[in-house]
Amino acid sequence: MKGDKGEAGGRNGAGSVSRRRVSGARRGGGKASAALTYPVGLRFECQRCSRCCGDTKTRERRIVLLEAEVGLIAATNRVPSATFALPNAGTQAYTFSMRKVDGRCIFLNGTECTVYEARPLVCRFYPFELRCSENGGYEFIGTEDDCPGIGRGKPLGEGFFKELFAYAEDLFSRL
Ligand code: SF4
Ligand code: SF4
Repeated sequence: MKGDKGEAGGRNGAGSVSRRRVSGARRGGGKASAALTYPVGLRFECQRCSRCCGDTKTRERRIVLLEAEVGLIAATNRVPSATFALPNAGTQAYTFSMRKVDGRCIFLNGTECTVYEARPLVCRFYPFELRCSENGGYEFIGTEDDCPGIGRGKPLGEGFFKELFAYAEDLFSRL
């Protein structure tokens, strides 16, 4: 399916790693970003198993979408938004959820993501989630799901998390 995904995953691995805070990440306008904390020394390499693209025996996967992401996927893939985006109740930023077929994302074909370039934030973040931290910044934490990519490959560095964060900042700046 995709190459990387961002929701949660490393709790099993994150327990043994420290966290590092970086600040001053810059975006288009040159404005400094908030402090960012992330697991240090955690190894991750996506195994392209597509487990995070659908429900498993132990948990229902909810693939949430920002309105801007719905528009991006619809425009990039030339599909009406109603065919894949279901409105969520409430007023949270993630106002839509991805439609699933037989418990799997509607855009999953085998183990391949057919909207990979326009995939939503939660997919880019997986197996991490981005949350507000107690110090007023943001932190990436591992998901509680099982992800076979955790513990594989090289340790993730600062650049990996800063790049994800910058993408999210850019997306939210358009809301
Ligand atoms: S569950 Fe982990 S290894 Fe499998 S596709 Fe998702 S991110 Fe990659
Ligand atoms: S958009 Fe669907 S198929 Fe693509 S990575 Fe996300 S959950 Fe998987």
